[in-house]
Amino acid sequence: MQKVALLRCKEYDVDLVEETLRQGFELLGGDAFLRKLIPYGSQVFLKPNLLSSEPPGSPVVTDYRTFEAVIRIFKDYAGSIRFGDSPGFGHAAKAAESCGLMEVAKRYDVSFDPFESFETVALEDYLLVPRFDVASAVMEADVLVSLPRLKTHGMTSYTGAIKNQFGCIPGLKKAAWHGRMPRVKDFSRMLLDINKLVDTKFAILDGIVAMEGNGPKNGRPNPMETLIMGESLSAVDSLAATLIGYNPEEIPYLLEARESGFGPTDLKQIEVLGESVEEMTPEQFVRVRGRSHVRFKDGLAGRLVQKAIAPKPVLIPELCIGCKQCGDICPEKPKVIDFIDENGPKPHWHYDECIRCFCCQEICPVGAIEIEYPVIARLLGMDK
Ligand code: SF4
Ligand code: SF4
Repeated sequence: MQKVALLRCKEYDVDLVEETLRQGFELLGGDAFLRKLIPYGSQVFLKPNLLSSEPPGSPVVTDYRTFEAVIRIFKDYAGSIRFGDSPGFGHAAKAAESCGLMEVAKRYDVSFDPFESFETVALEDYLLVPRFDVASAVMEADVLVSLPRLKTHGMTSYTGAIKNQFGCIPGLKKAAWHGRMPRVKDFSRMLLDINKLVDTKFAILDGIVAMEGNGPKNGRPNPMETLIMGESLSAVDSLAATLIGYNPEEIPYLLEARESGFGPTDLKQIEVLGESVEEMTPEQFVRVRGRSHVRFKDGLAGRLVQKAIAPKPVLIPELCIGCKQCGDICPEKPKVIDFIDENGPKPHWHYDECIRCFCCQEICPVGAIEIEYPVIARLLGMDK
């Protein structure tokens, strides 16, 4: 049984978050657990979610108060602490500064790495991908810790601890993986391979205020008052996905995690410590049914089925500011987004070639792209 702590934290008061996380560590084994997790003098690397440049308190990124509470606890055990990430678009340092993480880090002498330097690392026991370009800072760490935000996601329906580690691949190289892995099953296996490679030792999932709806960037805050922590990333994610109403196996990378033996996803294999699942299940949570619910097939029949039921990115014209970031991030070659000038550039999709990675929906700075299911899919209830 994998132990996972499920905790209630009512607000982003850093003292309260710290106290709650300390309760979680007590449940997991207290000081002895922490000493084993962080061997004496080791270098801890914190990997938050810095998807884009957001203001302090934004539910898009790891909250700066959760970040501070984690540092307060780990600094008594670690020889040194570093943190870093690289957004798929934009500057890492700017993203860390705008949401408040950089200021916290400076106060605690925690250094930042923007993942500009990387190394190519081979993986022996891989599911699909034998080698990756990975941020050097991650490979140099003794103890890698994932600090994700609990959010919905256009492609994978849910994103948490495992998906957060995709960010260990530097910058724009991430978008390229979408292009190389158009099938969601392959993308999921690739995601598990990168997780095997970086070998994350612990995850603390920030769901004090989670994101629902048009995630991972343009959804709405949902105050779930939840923190989830544990050594098994698949267990942490499966518990979070269950809380917001998914069967973990509906999340493609959790299904692959179970099938490949990566880690537990069945709550029967997970010992939930602290609060109960029933108590922590939110009354309402607006889920998103990403591409994970459509199995893309090759050939003419597959394409026809895809056309009939696959969700697609669509524009909310009145919100679009014509920045063209959606076109820049599209990993397909040639790109499947053109721009039509209608009082400023507006995206136009070539859906037959679109692989539904939803990078465009993810990157849009103003939430002008949403995911739409065709009528047949809606009648079949696939959007629920
Ligand atoms: S148009 Fe959007 S969803 Fe389609 S391939 Fe490009 S980035 Fe992905
Ligand atoms: S849809 Fe969003 S990302 Fe694309 S041009 Fe409009 S505002 Fe920019």
